[in-house]
Amino acid sequence: MEECIFCKIVEGEIPSLKVYEDNNCIAFLDINPCSPGHTIVIPRRHYPLLTDMPDDLVKDIFAAVSLISRAVQSVTNAQGLTVGTNVGKAAGQEVPHVHIHIIPRFEGDKGAAIQHIVRMPVNKEELPGYADKIRSAIGKFPSPKEEEKKEAPKEKGKKPKWYFSNE
Ligand code: AMP
Ligand code: ZN
Repeated sequence: MEECIFCKIVEGEIPSLKVYEDNNCIAFLDINPCSPGHTIVIPRRHYPLLTDMPDDLVKDIFAAVSLISRAVQSVTNAQGLTVGTNVGKAAGQEVPHVHIHIIPRFEGDKGAAIQHIVRMPVNKEELPGYADKIRSAIGKFPSPKEEEKKEAPKEKGKKPKWYFSNE
């Protein structure tokens, strides 16, 4: 992915403060950290969104996230961590290559809990309906298999994959 900054980091074309690598993912320090030790974990292969990734790779990357999180917390003496990923532009994702943020948290760091970053009015009477719909939707959207992704033909006139998939 020529234009993707994180692909360039994977390829070593631009520098990073790398802290971890294995066959499937790498981790490096965020260039614009929001607390000391703010680390980013990415798959080596380019996927725009977490939801684009094959399940096996999601398992691998979150195992790495957990491993790296323990090291980050220990080294920074953080009292807690916020671990998460922005999925899509509406959620604040700026780099369209999947990445999981590991953010060390400290008492008085002026941050918030992730469930407080969005405030939309929700009619609680509608919640059982949402639960029903989500339950029946599960399984209808399986993750793409690694092989299908590899062999997907490039369609003429389509934007390259490093764009968000809904563009
Ligand atoms: P997001 O809004 O989740 O897409 O966040 C992208 C993150 O990537 C931001 O926290 C940036 O500071 C970080 N970032 C962008 N470019 C680089 C880079 N070259 N090296 C390290 N981190 C980067
Ligand atoms: Zn990429």
